[in-house]
Amino acid sequence: MAAHDPVEQKYVYDFAEGNKDLKDLLGGKGANLAEMTNLGLPVPPGFTITTEACKAYLTTGREPDGLAAQIEAHLESLEREMGRRLGDPDDPLLVSVRSGAKFSMPGMMETVLNVGLNDRSVVGLSNQAGGNDRFAWDSYRRLIQMFGKTVCEVPGEEFEHALDEIKRAKGTHNDLDLDADDLRGLVDAYKQIFAKHTGREFPQEPREQLDLAIRAVFDSWNAERAILYRRQERIPADLGTAVNVVTMVFGNLGPDSGTGVAFTRDPGSGAQGIYGDYLANAQGEDVVAGIRNTVPLQELEQLDKTSYDELLGIMARLEEHYKDLCDIEFTIERGKLWMLQTRVGKRTAAAAFVIAGQLVDEGLIDLDEALHRVNGAQLAQLMFPRFQLDHEFEPVAKGIGASPGAASGKVVFTSARAVELAAEGESVILVRRETNPDDLNGMIAAKGILTSRGGKTSHAAVVARGMGKTCVSGADELEVNVPAKKFTVGDHVVNEGDVVSIDGTTGKVYLGEVPVMPSEVVQYFEGELDPENTDDALVRSVHRIMTHADAARRLRVRTNADTGADAARARRFGAEGIGLCRTEHMFLGDRRELVERLILASGEREREDALAALLPLQRADFIEIFREMDGLPVTVRLIDPPLHEFLPPLEQLAVNVAVAQERGEDVAKEEALLAAVRRMHEENPMLGLRGVRLGLVIPGLFAMQVRAIAEAAVAVVRDGGKACPEIMVPLVGAVQELETVRAEAERIIAEVVGDSGVEVLIGTMIEVPRAALTAGQIAEAAEFFSFGTNDLTQMGWGFSRDDVEGAFFWRYLELGIFGISPFESIDTDGVGRLVRIAAEEGRAARPGLKLGVCGEHGGDPDSVHFFHEVGLDYVSCSPFRVPVARLEAGRASITTTGSDSR
Ligand code: ADP
Ligand code: MG
Ligand code: MG
Repeated sequence: MAAHDPVEQKYVYDFAEGNKDLKDLLGGKGANLAEMTNLGLPVPPGFTITTEACKAYLTTGREPDGLAAQIEAHLESLEREMGRRLGDPDDPLLVSVRSGAKFSMPGMMETVLNVGLNDRSVVGLSNQAGGNDRFAWDSYRRLIQMFGKTVCEVPGEEFEHALDEIKRAKGTHNDLDLDADDLRGLVDAYKQIFAKHTGREFPQEPREQLDLAIRAVFDSWNAERAILYRRQERIPADLGTAVNVVTMVFGNLGPDSGTGVAFTRDPGSGAQGIYGDYLANAQGEDVVAGIRNTVPLQELEQLDKTSYDELLGIMARLEEHYKDLCDIEFTIERGKLWMLQTRVGKRTAAAAFVIAGQLVDEGLIDLDEALHRVNGAQLAQLMFPRFQLDHEFEPVAKGIGASPGAASGKVVFTSARAVELAAEGESVILVRRETNPDDLNGMIAAKGILTSRGGKTSHAAVVARGMGKTCVSGADELEVNVPAKKFTVGDHVVNEGDVVSIDGTTGKVYLGEVPVMPSEVVQYFEGELDPENTDDALVRSVHRIMTHADAARRLRVRTNADTGADAARARRFGAEGIGLCRTEHMFLGDRRELVERLILASGEREREDALAALLPLQRADFIEIFREMDGLPVTVRLIDPPLHEFLPPLEQLAVNVAVAQERGEDVAKEEALLAAVRRMHEENPMLGLRGVRLGLVIPGLFAMQVRAIAEAAVAVVRDGGKACPEIMVPLVGAVQELETVRAEAERIIAEVVGDSGVEVLIGTMIEVPRAALTAGQIAEAAEFFSFGTNDLTQMGWGFSRDDVEGAFFWRYLELGIFGISPFESIDTDGVGRLVRIAAEEGRAARPGLKLGVCGEHGGDPDSVHFFHEVGLDYVSCSPFRVPVARLEAGRASITTTGSDSR
């Protein structure tokens, strides 16, 4: 057991023993306090209790063996260093107890300041401060208040009320007007409140105060708010928090003292300068609480030039050292500056790119590091249109940015009303307390979705993201009243038909219509903004980093495009080919009639006629796409969906036929159609007659498509152009299927291509689990594989996306069965394993086998990293995702020692 353990685990680190890379162990705050200490910056001495100690406490319900003794030892050495003892009646050492996890987490326990004060040491503190009674009693009442609230769960309002009461009696609104006697009285009132709620007196023993505060920090890891936040931000639940014990310094000792916060550059835009707030004669919590008005940091120059200059020097030093934007908390005690916190600061997506570019210019980081500092999610965010916000628009509420985008429209409260108004051409925002599967049609009809409950994994959020629709969830200031068709927020009442605007990135909700402006990043990708010649720092930086990502990446990036227009846009966005050209739409519109003829054909002649009529139309489609791609590879997938999708719906057809029969009209053709539809009806169409199965059942169908592709390629080449077609057979599960299709296709290609020099590859989708598991056999007949990870996910898990996303995904996310929807990001353990097996066995059977992925995962940042690691040659995604995939493919290729970018 631990007591007999020869080497006892180290649970407590002096600031001088840590460093910034120990965030796992010391938490962010502790690691950075240590780093600053070692840089020689003025940090009040202290120590950090590790996340390991927290984890041990949380699993066993008690402090691990050895912890108490280690705390004792570190406290003693702190006392020696400071020449004071914790809570000493004559000359007390006071400390703060501060939580600090690896990732900064709202919802964790707040800080307790002034630990060590009691009825006796308060007098000692006053003496230390040269007889400043007011300061001493103010510090003591703060301790009881913070300790009561955060350690013992005494309702905070009770303390607030008592404070208000005293101020009212005194006829003032300002804390600073309270004198020592007032505050002494307040301490008595606070103690009574404490005793009333906890059933015990406020602890006078300093060490007991310390131990209780430390334990409360540990416990706060599992507070409800913290748990919710972790789920939302996908922070693992088992990291635990560290606890920092820091010697108190005092910003509330008079006008020559104070406290503030600062950024080394603007976290909104990335612009260099001095950004921060300062509050004289105050303790840290006052700044955040907004009790008194702060002044801009620049004004500190007038108040205390020495400290100001020192602070600026330290800020420059920190930026230089962390090579990044830092934010800082500091306190000045009687003209002496103390650093209380720093960390690499949070920033907007735009600032992330701008700052990375600037730091390269300043020679602080190289381009690899700049690439590492930004990510695809930020880039995707920058590619949405944005609200054009100026002072006129103040948000009325803020929820969770659940699915990005900017949407304005008339408020509706029911799915039915959303459908109705949308059909009239109105933009609508569907507002609900929370959504459920019955709201699906309304969600499809709406421009955006706004809910007052639920987080990033609620039904509304999951479904909206799946549909690419703007969504703000959990805007809990909204009081939604569906039967009354209105919601209230603050003093505002919003009725059905009123216009609101929602920002799915920031979660902000506005009344009225906020004008939308296009994304300058998209304008850049579209070629409308010259990156070499713009004063837009964001565009310049995006260009530079994208260029570097392109140079660094091994994965090629293609696009999914079915039309010449899509192909053209995707090329502007950097696509290096088409990874998936669906041919389905080529059978719709006015070509439906031909398809019906094909399906209804009673004999070979009729079928051949229909196919012959379709051939030139398809050929023209392919010519357009090949021209647009100009020699880049184009993977054309042979027809995939079940045929009934091309026929009218059964019910409607049946009614039409019945009505026409009633009227005595000639319905022979409709009856034949109806019979065909009935014949083709499937219980599970996704698992039915589709893909290669259809090609093997309907003679001539695949042959016609292969011919159209080959003829189009030859036509483009004869015209002096280039074409590089790849024919892809969908839904293959057995090599025999592919061999059969291949034999016929090769014969047709040889006949069409002749001496034109056109080369056509034949390959297959890997989207049925059996194909992945027999990839070695299938590779014998395939020149390339393209992973269809949507179907592979559906068939791997055995659920259909359309049915499950609305039905139960939210519950699975809530229960943690999924960390993220497997349609959003590839399930690397299961579906990803199928990909890995197929890639390995395919390449073993056919060295150099070309491997790609088509499907939405191709544009998902985490999935791109996985595909890079598995060794695919390319990913293919929708045109708008192409830049994201390029960036992430670049990031996947570089290795840096840089910091965690969360
Ligand atoms: P948060 O994580 O919420 O920022 P902190 O632990 O940083 O909480 O504490 C909040 C504020 O309390 C700090 O910004 C600082 O102003 C004040 N504070 C914390 N520890 C000390 C200390 N040892 N001396 C003086 N002020 C402190
Ligand atoms: Mg802080
Ligand atoms: Mg598929």
